[in-house]
Amino acid sequence: MKPILIAGPCAAESELQLMTTAEQLHEVAKRQGLSLDYFRAGVWKPRSNPNSFMGVGEQALSWLGEVQRRFGFCVCTEVMNAQQVELCEKAGITALWVGARTGVNPADVQKIADVIKGKPFTMLVKNPLVPDLKLWQGNIERFLQAGVKQVIAVHRGFADGNENIYRNAPCWEIPIDLKVSFPELPILCDPSHLCGQTKWIPQIAQLALNYGFNGLMLECHSNPTEALSDADQQITPAEWGNLIQNLTFKINAPNADLIKQRALLEHVDTQLSELLAKRMEIVDEIARIKKDNNLPVVQPQQWQQVKERYLKEGQDSAYREFLAQFLELLHQASIQRQK
Ligand code: PEP
Ligand code: MN
Repeated sequence: MKPILIAGPCAAESELQLMTTAEQLHEVAKRQGLSLDYFRAGVWKPRSNPNSFMGVGEQALSWLGEVQRRFGFCVCTEVMNAQQVELCEKAGITALWVGARTGVNPADVQKIADVIKGKPFTMLVKNPLVPDLKLWQGNIERFLQAGVKQVIAVHRGFADGNENIYRNAPCWEIPIDLKVSFPELPILCDPSHLCGQTKWIPQIAQLALNYGFNGLMLECHSNPTEALSDADQQITPAEWGNLIQNLTFKINAPNADLIKQRALLEHVDTQLSELLAKRMEIVDEIARIKKDNNLPVVQPQQWQQVKERYLKEGQDSAYREFLAQFLELLHQASIQRQK
């Protein structure tokens, strides 16, 4: 499957900034034979600090429409409520995203899902700020239930309360579990918001692709140092071109393998848990025999023989250590039960 590429500025700041960025991205993509699937730009910006740039609002919608007409890009923007969805619809914008802040409130997400019901929107669903898989799954489910044909998940990292070198904690297991629960759902990584600084972007973007992500959303500005929001994490269109050229796209294969191996592991784990239950039944029987014959619960020689049977020279030392601990755990559980 061809990777899904999304790029564009954090925010639409002025008509000139938006057109310049779009034109440069268009040229780079053409030169490198890439297709940009969506051009992104925030019109309304939900910011933590009320003194930060909140986006220019409604007037930017016509600029986005112009980007669509002039460069043939499909444009996407963030919506936080039903009214913004309607304004986007009027402006001919058919791809929207729900951001990390809106995503923490299922009631708000439901209102957006209700208003787009039956309309031909593509919905991008970013992970909620908090590392809560069920919340993210629920938000996606709301759009699927509203009949949205194209739903795409976007992993932008989580606020997990820890000091991270990145702006947000990757918690990779969460998007990977999301993919397992929705195997058909494309999932993109947004390295810009995850990293917070451009220097980390190449390694996080490559890691995401290695994990089987289906594409990338990247913040891209014609003049990042002058950006009114998220200046430290935006790259230029030329840098975007270099980044994409230097990444190895191994989309799907590793992820399909991972899912298959996990299924095999689950099968082995099921057998293991059944065997452990069976072992406990045998332990109960042994306890009864010992009691009837006045034999002690712990028989050190017997236990020594068991360990010798399984712990052998030449075993990998880490595995041997694990096995020793596992056998000890089994032994202790068995003694407790017999007592
Ligand atoms: C954005 O994409 O500009 C944005 C605000 O993202 P997030 O919701 O991931 O912080
Ligand atoms: Mn941003």
